[in-house]
Amino acid sequence: MKYIDEFQDPELARRLLDDIHATVTRPWALMEVCGGQTHSIIRHGIDQLLPDEVELIHGPGCPVCVTPLEVIDKALEIASRPGVIFCSFGDMLRVPGTGRDLFQVRGEGGDVRVVYSPLDALRIARQNPDREVVFFGIGFETTAPPNAMTVHQARKLGVRNFSMLVSHVRVPPAIEAIMSSPSCRVQGFLAAGHVCSVMGVEEYPELAERFRVPIVVTGFEPLDILEGVRRAVRQLERGEHTVDNAYARAVRPEGNPAARAMLEDVFEVTDRAWRGIGVIPDSGWRLSSKYRDHDAEHRFSVGGIRTQEPAECRSGEVLQGLLKPHECEAFGTLCTPRTPLGATMVSSEGACAAYYLYRRLDVPTTAAREASPVV
Ligand code: SF4
Repeated sequence: MKYIDEFQDPELARRLLDDIHATVTRPWALMEVCGGQTHSIIRHGIDQLLPDEVELIHGPGCPVCVTPLEVIDKALEIASRPGVIFCSFGDMLRVPGTGRDLFQVRGEGGDVRVVYSPLDALRIARQNPDREVVFFGIGFETTAPPNAMTVHQARKLGVRNFSMLVSHVRVPPAIEAIMSSPSCRVQGFLAAGHVCSVMGVEEYPELAERFRVPIVVTGFEPLDILEGVRRAVRQLERGEHTVDNAYARAVRPEGNPAARAMLEDVFEVTDRAWRGIGVIPDSGWRLSSKYRDHDAEHRFSVGGIRTQEPAECRSGEVLQGLLKPHECEAFGTLCTPRTPLGATMVSSEGACAAYYLYRRLDVPTTAAREASPVV
């Protein structure tokens, strides 16, 4: 069987696959929420090992991909200001804003620095008390705790020249938005294990019940994903819709209480725009009023920046699972990792980048699937 000998435990992989093949009797569409899972699926050919009846739809769980264009433009504006040191993880530097990216700002003389932790940015702020130091704080529930802790530290230490441009997003409201869409085809979810390791699973039973979808908390290794698919398919075939933790080695039901307490102290829930999708109510975090002095959006008065997404990029449909990346007209032609039109082609976790990297140019299109439905 292709790819399977590359799995960590090929025998276990075969057993899981045999179970899935023996269980499935009709078509099911599952969404893996996390971009890391998407890469693992495409890299290891997991979708091609599954029965034809099981379709994996790629979800919106890539933090770089869903950061809206207007937040990128705010970052570009702040990074261009004299006296500012703008710090970011490296994967944000090539994300296109309107007309340019952070690399170009650096080429034009802006002091844009790649850091590996928000605490690096705080250290830079302490070393440069006469400069404004800004950290670009994006991501899901996984990156939010260290960012929250850094802002907490900055306040505690009185580092007044440190601020954060925050665009954090939360998974459960995104699941709710996806399931509420009239065009939604998702029948079950592989929830992101690392998010649940922070937040626990308390928010999921209500969603599983309301939308009657199984939600299986799943890890990132190929075997984790096969196990998540196996459990989701079992539930679907039995007509069940419960929350099942298939990643118990990392996820406790209550998550990480210390991290959650830090999040509650530093952030407050807010509506958040997702790139290509639009505003999802209560889907984000912003700094709470207690930490307003460290809010870069407030400090640099960039809250009014509004921008339009490029019309040719269909990443919003990709992020909602309505379109496979190679079905976008620009895929591999106008849009490549060297010339990305959208964040899903830039980010290492983006679905478009995964398809390009692993040469997925020949998988059946959605239209083809609909024309030849599996019965
Ligand atoms: S291939 Fe490029 S243009 Fe098309 S959806 Fe992906 S990022 Fe956007």
